[in-house]
Amino acid sequence: MNNISKYVALVFILFCLSSRISAQQLKPEAFSLLNLDYPGLEKVKTLHEAGKDADAAKALLDYYRGRTAVKHPDIDLTKIRISKEEQKWADDALEHTFFSHKGYQPSYNYGKDINWQYWPVQDNELRWQLHRHKWFAPMGKAYRVSGDEKYAREWVHQYMDWITKNPLAKINKDEYEMLNADEVKGLVENVRFAWRPLEVSHRMQDQTNQFQYFIVSPSFTPEFLTEFLVNYHKHVIHLLGNYSEKGNHLLFEAQRTIYAGAFFPEYKDASAWRKRGIDVLNREIEIQVYDDGGQYELDAHYHAAAINIFCKALYMADANGFRGEFPQSYMDTIEKMIVFYMNICFPDYTNPCFSDAQIGAKHAELRNYREWMKLFPKNEQIRYFATEGKEGKLPQNLSRAFKTTGFYTFRNSWKKDATVMVMKAGPEGFWHNQPDNGTFELWFNGKNLFPDSGVYVYAGDSEVTKQRNWFRQTMVHNTLTLDNKTLETTQSVCKYWNGEGNVQTLVTENPGYAGLTHRRTVFFVDNTYFVLVDEAYGDAVGEVNLHYQLAEGKVDLDPKTMMVNSDYAGSSNVKLQCFGEKPLTMKEEEGWYSTTYRKRAERTALSFNTQKQTGDTSRFITVIYPLTDRAKAPELSAKFNNKEFSASGVEVEVKVNGKKQVLKINF
Ligand code: MG
Repeated sequence: MNNISKYVALVFILFCLSSRISAQQLKPEAFSLLNLDYPGLEKVKTLHEAGKDADAAKALLDYYRGRTAVKHPDIDLTKIRISKEEQKWADDALEHTFFSHKGYQPSYNYGKDINWQYWPVQDNELRWQLHRHKWFAPMGKAYRVSGDEKYAREWVHQYMDWITKNPLAKINKDEYEMLNADEVKGLVENVRFAWRPLEVSHRMQDQTNQFQYFIVSPSFTPEFLTEFLVNYHKHVIHLLGNYSEKGNHLLFEAQRTIYAGAFFPEYKDASAWRKRGIDVLNREIEIQVYDDGGQYELDAHYHAAAINIFCKALYMADANGFRGEFPQSYMDTIEKMIVFYMNICFPDYTNPCFSDAQIGAKHAELRNYREWMKLFPKNEQIRYFATEGKEGKLPQNLSRAFKTTGFYTFRNSWKKDATVMVMKAGPEGFWHNQPDNGTFELWFNGKNLFPDSGVYVYAGDSEVTKQRNWFRQTMVHNTLTLDNKTLETTQSVCKYWNGEGNVQTLVTENPGYAGLTHRRTVFFVDNTYFVLVDEAYGDAVGEVNLHYQLAEGKVDLDPKTMMVNSDYAGSSNVKLQCFGEKPLTMKEEEGWYSTTYRKRAERTALSFNTQKQTGDTSRFITVIYPLTDRAKAPELSAKFNNKEFSASGVEVEVKVNGKKQVLKINF
């Protein structure tokens, strides 16, 4: 192509693009995607077969505007409410300031002529989530609440603008020649973000809502309807051919495929879509949920998300009469997952932030329980948490082990003054899992005394990934490392569990490094304090480090006595003291914790360290004593009674204010 013809072709393409944005074109292929024999589409079929597609599109729009047979569980059009925050997202969007991610506030502006490739911070999440169009449904609510056409007009404009600027199909050769290398690279790279299957599924789900909000608008023209249906179909086909291999993404994608099939039964393949989604969920609930009810990413946040995915599929099924396609075992597993969740959470409804978990807001947790209660009305425990104890019954157990998932809860009460330690020592886990075997969180009298470091960010360029990697390190958890290195193997086994009585005990073991196995024994004594016995055995040589991460606020460290005393305001404090078999050093370390994306707080972190020679076992006893009044911290001492490491047990002697207690376990 010479330069003039290139120029002419470019002008032509730009003309086509701009005319598509300002006035949508009727897409006749929409009719070929639909089953025109579907009840209610008789008129559409007659007009289409007579070659009158413009009238057929009008008839199709009339059909959708009057459709009542399909029910949507997420929306009640007679009671639309918009929060202040959603109203802001809707109004900002009119100026092309798009709410993409809570971790990046205030939201960025994407330009008068929207630049969907704008990537101000090279965090993958920011770019991926732009393509979830989280402001579209709020625009729909704003439209319905105010009746102001500007929201609908702008939504149609942005919807079309997105289609035009985010092509999925490969760019053809002529277009390639007209673009410079950077532009080609930009478009190719863009597909990775705009068309990632998780984002595609997100749009599929959200667009069922947008469709309902905007369908009554004059801006939602018959031509636009055909554009919408073709685009939506393309989404489903792309998703079905590119399902994620496993994990929570696959669950989201399957559930949203059910949404597509159930909400648009007029598509020829709708029932096949629905069936595919249901088949995947029925299969994955068996794979991704262990027999004790834990989801295999070992992350409380994704565990709860997985429950909600499974439930959402059921709500859609109930609304449209296909509950029978899920077996009873599906229901039983969801119930087991909820029981797991209530047992690993704290009395204030917060969750441990192990792995990539962020902390849940109480109102959202309560909403979850209320939804779950509807599915399981006979479960008195779910009712208890849904009503904040006004109805229902507490679980009969206090402490509880989930041995397959490797979550262990020591608990002396379900009330606000409880002492609750949740320990994580599980199998290998999936993507969101962190290499943190043996770590714990300890919640006491309203405060989390040892919050997990959390996640902070997911992934992106080297700077963002470096931040993520800091929070993933084993050494920033409450556990043991060799030379501060991150664990090579994360395969803990439970050697012993007893969750009842005055001395409750857990023994777990992880072969963390070549030549070094970490055995951690936890004694929960008199429902009051904890004694952790850490033994590192094997041929490895190096420094063995035992790390602790405290809460934000003042903490006093005494390297002479290996003592740690918190000085927090309020009535939840802790005294921790470590007793080594060989000389220890105390080292203060960098400490951060993050419970929400891109927000972090500095806190005290430290390690106790000892040198290990070949064949030695490094042994530590840590007494962790929670206190309502820090002035009443007891005198502590501890020692090993068994002089040598034994593969079949351990015995230690602990003194609290001189009172001796022998703690012994054989297995
Ligand atoms: Mg962590």
